[in-house]
Amino acid sequence: MFVTHLPKIFFYPKPKIIITSALLSKSKTTPLSHFSSVTSAANTLLQQTPDLQIKNLEIEHVQEKPHFKISVEKLFFPPDTDVSSGSRPLSSRILKGSNIVLSKYAGDAQVEQAEFVKSSVETEECPSDGLPEFALVGRSNVGKSSLLNSLVRRKKLALTSKKPGKTQCINHFRINNSWHLVDLPGYGYAAAPHEVRTDWAKFTKDYFLNRPNLVSVFLLIDASIPAKRIDLEYASWLGENKIPMTIVFTKCDKRKKKKNGGKRPEENLQDFLELIQKFFQTAPPWIMTSSVTNQGRDEILLHMSQLRNYWLKH
Ligand code: GDP
Repeated sequence: MFVTHLPKIFFYPKPKIIITSALLSKSKTTPLSHFSSVTSAANTLLQQTPDLQIKNLEIEHVQEKPHFKISVEKLFFPPDTDVSSGSRPLSSRILKGSNIVLSKYAGDAQVEQAEFVKSSVETEECPSDGLPEFALVGRSNVGKSSLLNSLVRRKKLALTSKKPGKTQCINHFRINNSWHLVDLPGYGYAAAPHEVRTDWAKFTKDYFLNRPNLVSVFLLIDASIPAKRIDLEYASWLGENKIPMTIVFTKCDKRKKKKNGGKRPEENLQDFLELIQKFFQTAPPWIMTSSVTNQGRDEILLHMSQLRNYWLKH
């Protein structure tokens, strides 16, 4: 019973990797470069699948220096990624500020319509239309509402989830009439009584384990501060239960090095990834974002599209 309830992309097929270079880094010298090569790579791949198209993807290029290198074993290959094919080198198919390789399933990344559907207090009450969905979860104050609003380009959509009485609910938003973004209760709110905190955990865990159309959880981690124990616990629980997960590092615009040994976002990010790696057989996908600069917004939507389109076809 347990296994049948797991999401469909629970088993990521391992791609054949025939890359010889040990390290890939993001190009320093190509301004529009990284993303435009990614999208044109996606377009090239999409020519083989005419039913998928990247529609007016708006690209905001933030010129940044690469901060670190990612080894091939630490890249995330979506299911059914043919690493060796295509005219583009692998390094040009990695989404900016992430370890995510773009697959032939990427497309439909534009949000044209977003509407609140309903708030549910348990998994059984969630919409039964079978649309694929992505759940956003994170510690209170991690920037979840800001990210949700930034993804749908609306200032106040996520306010619905902040209304009294809705903060402990599973809030569904329908996007383009074809998929759901799901806002889950923030965890670790210090002022909440212990019983309430435990209840939230139970209820979101039930959702993760029993929602068949959950394509992936997006776990938000604040990259402007060091890893918190509760975040590590959450990530390890998802990893151990083999729930497909993408880590979204938030507040990556907070670049100022803090006093008393404070670290920069990319250092906190690397620390976090190292701490959780033992809980995952293969590297989970991760992406850097900021709701202030909109860094990572288009990339998240493209990543969601490739997971969703794969899910719909299998
Ligand atoms: P939630 O409790 O997880 O929904 O978090 P909110 O979206 O309400 O954000 C909590 C606080 O963090 C607010 O003061 C936001 O303005 C701030 N915040 C959210 N996202 C970002 C970000 O990307 N960069 C910065 N610098 N601040 C952010």
